[in-house]
Amino acid sequence: MNHVFPRQNLAPPVKAVRGEGCYLFDESGKQYFDGSGGAAVSCLGHGDAEIIQAIQDQAASLAYAHTGFFTSDPAEELADLLIKHAPGTLDRVYFVSGGSEAVESALKLARQYFLEKGQPQRRHVIARRQSYHGNTLGALATGGNAWRRAQFEPILMDVSHIAPCYEYVDRAADETPFDYGQRVAQELEDEILRLGPDSVIAFVAEPVVGATMGAVPAVEGYFKRIREICNQYGVLLILDEVMCGMGRVGHLFACDADGIAPDILCIAKGLGAGYQPIGAMLCTDEIYQAISDGSGFFQHGHTYLGHPVACATSLAVVKAMLGRRLIPRVEAQGEKLSQALHDRFGQHPHIGDIRGRGLFRGMEFVADREAKIPFDPTRNTAGKFKKAAFDAGLICYPMRGTRDGNLGDHVLLAPPFIISDDQIGEVMDKLAVAVDQVFP
Ligand code: PMP
Repeated sequence: MNHVFPRQNLAPPVKAVRGEGCYLFDESGKQYFDGSGGAAVSCLGHGDAEIIQAIQDQAASLAYAHTGFFTSDPAEELADLLIKHAPGTLDRVYFVSGGSEAVESALKLARQYFLEKGQPQRRHVIARRQSYHGNTLGALATGGNAWRRAQFEPILMDVSHIAPCYEYVDRAADETPFDYGQRVAQELEDEILRLGPDSVIAFVAEPVVGATMGAVPAVEGYFKRIREICNQYGVLLILDEVMCGMGRVGHLFACDADGIAPDILCIAKGLGAGYQPIGAMLCTDEIYQAISDGSGFFQHGHTYLGHPVACATSLAVVKAMLGRRLIPRVEAQGEKLSQALHDRFGQHPHIGDIRGRGLFRGMEFVADREAKIPFDPTRNTAGKFKKAAFDAGLICYPMRGTRDGNLGDHVLLAPPFIISDDQIGEVMDKLAVAVDQVFP
């Protein structure tokens, strides 16, 4: 018993045995509301009969065929469907098994693109401080979360980190949100110029920051300016929508809300809705053609690329999202969730900010609401909140963020898209139990 290496240190480990709709059940029969969809994964809820059928059908006809030899119907159909709805000129899809693999693939594709174009001097990557892009070494180096990076610093590749767009903490009182966005976007141009304008491969960012700040969207105009700067210096824009993409913020692709399109886009999590591990990297035809007209081979690969069962599952998931009109529902339920959070916790002395888009919402905990001072990290506010909510039957995603100089404490909510009005009320009641316990 308990030979499985645990990811989390909730001791002793609780064994999950069943999922149904928005709920998970443990072996004692206790029911948990899945208020974070795992980590923004279970967008359709648990036990969806149509998705289960798609898995069974595909496993019975073709479970696996190596992409060194074959493509498959589900991979092709899924790519067509994603491309049909993708922003800008994204035109090619590379299927992997998760978010970190998607980011690694994007970094390597960007580097190889410039080699094919005869620009081998391009080697720098720029990302943002409060960000998470995965746990494999390239993705970890790209992310700016000091806590996750600390032990591995000496073996991480060199990535520049500029300021994120974090209005709640960083915007000056006399600055408009727009001016603030332009100011922090300027850091990208400054860093490109510092490194040498023809030496930068890519800028990497999450349209709505998830795992390090709890659902922080950029202010209006920020990403438009970022796109302009990337265009001006020929730097590729890689958007990491692993957490915020696939309908989570009320658009199939999160960057649609910012009115821009990247050169490379990473998705995962909601793409498989938790039914299969799958991620993807989408790129423009220009990038694809540079490689196909050049060496003709993307120097990368994993055994489970384009896995037929994962692709068939994801195809059923995306069709369900579109066919059941779940994305407009995300917007409607997201507004109600936001309103409920403001009504219930908007005046709480230790909740400094409530933010997010669609069904991707976060709250930031503070010791002092007026001065926006975070709690001392030794208090372990996020950890205590997670435990209190879990005991109350609510799975949410509390985190210690990466506020400069201190770790802020946040909680992320990312419930299944099928959440009902009553269930929003249930989440509020359970959150209130945790809030009362952690801030007596
Ligand atoms: N990028 C972002 C924005 C993420 O939130 C995550 C996971 N939390 C990843 C990448 C890594 O994805 P995975 O855990 O599937 O490797």
